[in-house]
Amino acid sequence: MFKTIQEMISYVKKENIEIIDLKVCDMLGIWHRISITSNKLDESIMEKGIGFDGSSYHFLTVEKSDMVMIPDVSTAYIDPFRSYKTINVIANIYVIKDNQYLRFSDDPRYVAEKTENLFKKDNISDEILLGPEYEFYVLDHMSYKISDHHLEVKIDSEQAQWSSSKTENNLGLHVRDHGAYHLDSPLDHSYDLRTKVVVEAEKINIPIKYHHSENGGPGQVEIEVNFAGVKEMGDRTMKIKHLLKNTAKSMNKTISFMPKPFSNELGSGMHVHIQLKHQGKYIFFDKSGYSGLSKIAHYAIGGILKHAKSLCAFTNPSTNSYKRLVPGFEAPVTLAYATANRSAVIRIPGYTIQEDEKRFELRSPDAMSNPYLCFSAIMMAAYDGIKNKIDPSLLGFGPYDINLYDLPASEQNKIQSLPTNLKEAASELENDYEYLLVGNVFSKIMIDNQIKQLLTEEKEISKLPHPKEFELYY
Ligand code: GLU
Ligand code: MG
Ligand code: MG
Repeated sequence: MFKTIQEMISYVKKENIEIIDLKVCDMLGIWHRISITSNKLDESIMEKGIGFDGSSYHFLTVEKSDMVMIPDVSTAYIDPFRSYKTINVIANIYVIKDNQYLRFSDDPRYVAEKTENLFKKDNISDEILLGPEYEFYVLDHMSYKISDHHLEVKIDSEQAQWSSSKTENNLGLHVRDHGAYHLDSPLDHSYDLRTKVVVEAEKINIPIKYHHSENGGPGQVEIEVNFAGVKEMGDRTMKIKHLLKNTAKSMNKTISFMPKPFSNELGSGMHVHIQLKHQGKYIFFDKSGYSGLSKIAHYAIGGILKHAKSLCAFTNPSTNSYKRLVPGFEAPVTLAYATANRSAVIRIPGYTIQEDEKRFELRSPDAMSNPYLCFSAIMMAAYDGIKNKIDPSLLGFGPYDINLYDLPASEQNKIQSLPTNLKEAASELENDYEYLLVGNVFSKIMIDNQIKQLLTEEKEISKLPHPKEFELYY
């Protein structure tokens, strides 16, 4: 929103802004906030920043936890939900060494910047374009209680409301459980909520592609934003999640990006569409290539599929993520690429026929990921593919223009699959991380921390008695 600190300070005075909220994204992809009053806002605080304890953000260790956040004024926007006039601004993380301010190398925003710079420095692409699709459930209430012996989940959702309306007199406002794609009013219950979010998003410079209800039974919906670079898309993802959750709260609803909240419904993914531009040209297009894709696009696909298993440690970092990645629910399982094929990890949209729209879609990621790290890791795998000319068909990744959920057993063993649980994903990263370290984009410390985080979470959850265990063993 602002080009200089001075510009922000003048705006705050002119518009009588009362509060400035500084936001920092932690390793898990969660925003932390520290607030100052506008009286505190001066050039010094904008240049010297505010000190904080980085260990509580899952960075570094407790012994070396002192960090500084310095706002990036270009990210500032008015927060429409606060009762006092408030500006939100995303901050970069610094560490102090020998009395000097240094960018903290594992700050997720900095990792995203480094990824973009690597593509520029090597003259591969001066513009990475990413288009994530945010799928999520909008529910009325979800209460759960976990004790040592029991997990109790109560969902008082639109879904529950709708399925009960099936059996009662429902005035004809009845939809099939799995027929909720692109619903019209009055069947599309969260339309007003989404409309509010997309209108507010455009006011803060997040152009929206479209939004609609999704296939996962009543309650599942999707919003897509226009394409942008790695860091910018990380920022947009954080801002739009914040808008969604605050709008939901104001309307007495809840929003969940949990990848698989209901075992018998479709899960929520965060597919990422990828394009590269160089010197004004879209370089993924070649009309004589398979599905209209250029060689460089094939190499990017090759790199992503080669590393798809270890990528899961960043793109699908929850135990629940792997409950989504199962056959039969439009989520990918198989390491393959193909045109218009929703069962493959990489799908080339069949309706992209022009140069400026030619792209491919990575279908595995979900929104449990830290968006900066998720997008950066994907692009580092693509970078490896491009640099080392990795041909996906030579590695047995297809193209497969068949339904991969229904492969005969003889074919199945020829094709590799995504990890089936978090522990497997952590061990894949343990064995395959060199491509992330190129150009010092990711650090070994960060990779080790991520593995540790995943294993801790996996262990904690595996210790809990599961409701199904009561059914089988009680
Ligand atoms: N919800 C599905 C998933 O888990 C995807 C549906 C779609 O193709 O939009 O990835
Ligand atoms: Mg979708
Ligand atoms: Mg998609």
